[in-house]
Amino acid sequence: MSFPYEAPVSQALFDRAAAVTPGGVNSPVRAFGAVGGTPRFMVSGAGPYLTDADGREYVDLVCSWGPMILGHAHPGVQEAVRAAVARGTSFGTPGAGEVELAEEIVARVAPVEQVRLVSSGTEATMSAIRLARGFTGRAKVVKFAGCYHGHVDALLASAGSGVATFGLPDTPGVTGAQAGDTIVLPYNDLDAVRAAFAAHPEQIACVITEASPGNMGVVPPRPGFNQGLADLCRQNGALYVSDEVMTGFRVSRAGWYGLDGVRPDLMTFGKVMGGGFPAAAFGGRADVMAALAPAGPVYQAGTLSGNPVATAAGVAQLRLLDDAAYETLDAVSAEVRTLVTEALAKEGVAHRLQTAGSMFSVFFTDEAVTDYATAKTQAVHRFTAFFHAMLAHGVYLPPSAFESWFVSTAHDGAAVERIAAALPAAARAAAAAAPGADA
Ligand code: PLP
Repeated sequence: MSFPYEAPVSQALFDRAAAVTPGGVNSPVRAFGAVGGTPRFMVSGAGPYLTDADGREYVDLVCSWGPMILGHAHPGVQEAVRAAVARGTSFGTPGAGEVELAEEIVARVAPVEQVRLVSSGTEATMSAIRLARGFTGRAKVVKFAGCYHGHVDALLASAGSGVATFGLPDTPGVTGAQAGDTIVLPYNDLDAVRAAFAAHPEQIACVITEASPGNMGVVPPRPGFNQGLADLCRQNGALYVSDEVMTGFRVSRAGWYGLDGVRPDLMTFGKVMGGGFPAAAFGGRADVMAALAPAGPVYQAGTLSGNPVATAAGVAQLRLLDDAAYETLDAVSAEVRTLVTEALAKEGVAHRLQTAGSMFSVFFTDEAVTDYATAKTQAVHRFTAFFHAMLAHGVYLPPSAFESWFVSTAHDGAAVERIAAALPAAARAAAAAAPGADA
C-alpha cells in the first residue's frame, strides 16, 4: 500500500529510534506494524489535539490509550503536577498524596475496601493474581481469549491488544511452567467456565476478566455474564478479579462496576487514575487485601509506588471527573459513533459499531462480535484503509483493528466537525479496499 502523505521528521526519528530501540518503539502497537506507514512521533498535545514532529495536528481518538480523559494538558491537572514537582519528585516514604488517591478510589468504587498503589496496569494484575493465589492457596488462573491484562507472563496466553494486533499465538520467553496454570477460555461462555471448575476442583485461585473487554476491540459482556462469573467463583471458593485498568473511572465514576453493579473480590485500575502519569492500583475485599505485606505474607512492593507527582495528577484528574464530565463523554462518544456508522453505511461498508459506556470500536463485519474468535473474522484490510485515510485527514485512530477508541471531555464541537469532515473519504477508502492490500 502506498501512502498519500509524508512524515519526514517522524520517519527520521523512527529511523534513529530503530537503531537504539527494538522496532523503534517502547510499546509494540505504536510502531504501526499492523497498518504500515510511518508512526507519528508526537511533540505536544492540547485538549483533543496532538501535534506531530512534522507540525501536523490530529484530533486524537486514542487519548494515550485511555488516560487523557480530560484531554491533553488540562490546566487543572497541570497545576497539580507543577505544585507537586516543586515539592520534590520522589521520597520513598509514605506521603499524603497516596492517601488522598486511595481515599478517592475507595469512595468511588464500593467493592474496594482497601487499595494498594503500583505504577502500571501490568503490575496491578500481576500483583492481584499473586494475591489471589496466596489468599486461596491455589495455583490455577482462568482468563479469557482476547482479554489483555498487561504483559504478565501467566496472562499473555491468547491475549488481546498488541498480542492480537500482531496475531501472536504465544510469546517466546514465557515458559510452560509460567503459563501452565493458566486456563484460557472463550469470552462470554459461562458453560466453559462451569466446565473448567468441574475439571479442576479446588485448584482455581481466580477468574480474571476485563470488566468489559476493550483489547480485542470493544466486546461487552453478555447480560448476566459477569454476574455468572462472580457466582461461579463464590460457589467454587475462587476469587473474581475484575480488570478495570481500561474501564475504571472512564465509563462512569465507578467504572464498569458503576454500570453493572457486579461485585468483584479484587479489582485492578490504571490509565485514568494516573492523570497521564504512571499510577495504577489493585484493591478489593479487606480480608483478601489483608494478606498483602506488610499486613500479611504475600509480598509486593515498588520503589516508585505512590509517587507524589503521579498521585497528585491522579487525584486532580479524578476530582475533575464529576457527573457532568461523564455526561459529556457519553454525548461525544454517541456523536462520533453516529457519524462513523452513517459514513460507513453510506458507502455500503459492512460494519458493526460496538459500545461499552463511552468506549467503542468498529468491526468491519456485519456479524455480532461476542468473543475473540468472532473479532478475528472482521475484514482487517478495510480498517487499514480507513485508518490511513483518517490519518491523512488529521484524525488519529488506534493503529489496530483490535483496540478501543477513546474520547475526552475536551472533544468539543470543532473536534467533532473535523472527524465528520474526515469520514467520507475514509469510508470510501474502506469500501474500495481489496483483501491482501494490508501493509
Ligand atoms: N489491563 C487492561 C484491561 C489493559 O487495557 C491494560 C493496558 O492496556 C493493562 C491491563 C496493562 O496496563 P499497562 O499498560 O499500564 O501495564
